[in-house]
Amino acid sequence: MAETSKHLIIVGGGPAGAMLSFLMARMGVKTTLIERHKDLSREFRGEGLSPSGVEVFRQAGLLDALSKLPASEVKSARFFIGDQDVLSLPMAEILPAAAMQRLMPQGPVLEMLIEKAKQFDCFTYLDGARVLDLAYDNGRVNGVVLDHEGQKKELNADYVISAEGRNSILRRKLGLDWVGENQSYDIVWTKLKKPDFVTEGEVFSFLQAERFGIGLPSAEGKIQLGVVIPKGSYKSFRNDDEPWQEKLAAGLPCQFAEYILANPDKLDKPILLDVISGSLSNWSKPGICFMGDAAHPMSPVGAQGINLALRDAIVAANLFGPALQDAAANTDAFDHAAKQFEAERRKEIEPAQKQQNTAPSQFAMASKFGWLIKFISNGFLKMLMKIFVSGKAVDKLIYGAVPVKLTFKP
Ligand SMILES: Cc1cc2nc3c(=O)[nH]c(=O)nc-3n(C[C@H](O)[C@H](O)[C@H](O)COP(=O)(O)OP(=O)(O)OC[C@H]3O[C@@H](n4cnc5c(N)ncnc54)[C@H](O)[C@@H]3O)c2cc1C
Repeated sequence: MAETSKHLIIVGGGPAGAMLSFLMARMGVKTTLIERHKDLSREFRGEGLSPSGVEVFRQAGLLDALSKLPASEVKSARFFIGDQDVLSLPMAEILPAAAMQRLMPQGPVLEMLIEKAKQFDCFTYLDGARVLDLAYDNGRVNGVVLDHEGQKKELNADYVISAEGRNSILRRKLGLDWVGENQSYDIVWTKLKKPDFVTEGEVFSFLQAERFGIGLPSAEGKIQLGVVIPKGSYKSFRNDDEPWQEKLAAGLPCQFAEYILANPDKLDKPILLDVISGSLSNWSKPGICFMGDAAHPMSPVGAQGINLALRDAIVAANLFGPALQDAAANTDAFDHAAKQFEAERRKEIEPAQKQQNTAPSQFAMASKFGWLIKFISNGFLKMLMKIFVSGKAVDKLIYGAVPVKLTFKP
């Protein structure tokens, strides 16, 4: 039987790969999604979905499906400086409802996207399959080499999109490096049962002498706690001589520190987020294109990673979809789409990274002068906060810096 479209392999079932799989399958493109995990909840990842990311689900016609999944609403924000609880604000007083972030564990979101893609016969999901390398035909990528249930095999396709995240093996196989600003910090993430003194839906941040951290509400009655550590110091953080929970507690306001020291077993295993901000100097090679964190790992500032990965999927569907739908298309069409994709997405990614990269100097300034806050009235602080969040720069992080519009209508 003659093929009705070209065959696309997508490597990685994160937000970028899962959303693109659904969009491509709905366009009738023969799509194979390869994901190394069987259980998508096993990997700890960002949970912050901004309006710019929710908009992608709206355009994809998946808003109803998204709204049925576990989510935590951010209801208030609390700020600690040292041990002092300096400010607590209902979010509704600083941000309009439409600008609020949803905190959603990625596992159920990804499962929903993959289930939706499975409704189309042209879609194949290969889970528990780890991509090891690329396959070539005359110097052009024409597939991948993978390990599926202990069997090493080659799978060929007309085009490959790598959405394997920041540890992309295919990037390394091609000798591609990220170019960007060096980051001075990493983040240790963990989850713990919400202590009673943290109210439902509360986001809190704390600034200690040299430490900055954030706590976010997470589904299942937990909080997701992230603490900044100096770049490259995770090994000594995990050094077994002193329990890591004690090191974590040393950088927290006393209420939190006491809770952690009293309940060290209630913390999930810590995860290192190696903070990188940059992008590949070239997002594609003949036969393959990179997207999401694999193309442009984001720093965690403003929780941009998921949202930009999802927005990549819309632009990739617009550009690669029509070329791949055409069973007679020649390879130049795909390589051209890849160049257009990179040019279009750089317009949003580069300014976002530039803005994220101003955060460390702002934290340094805040830790120097933060103690002054106790002399400022709550009303004045609220006003400052409102001015800050209503700025154009913050708007871009919330709603997206460039319009992204899905052109395909089912
Ligand atoms: C610990 C941690 C904390 C984070 N915190 C935040 C946050 O608070 N806010 C925020 O916005 N972002 C955060 N991020 C980043 C955010 O999760 C990413 O930006 C976002 O998930 C990127 O989506 P993606 O689809 O490009 O890649 P990923 O989500 O990384 O997905 C890549 C997928 O590819 C699969 N894969 C990888 N290699 C292979 C292979 N060889 N073969 C087959 N499959 C493979 C992986 O299993 C994974 O499912 C965090 C990331 C980490 C690691």
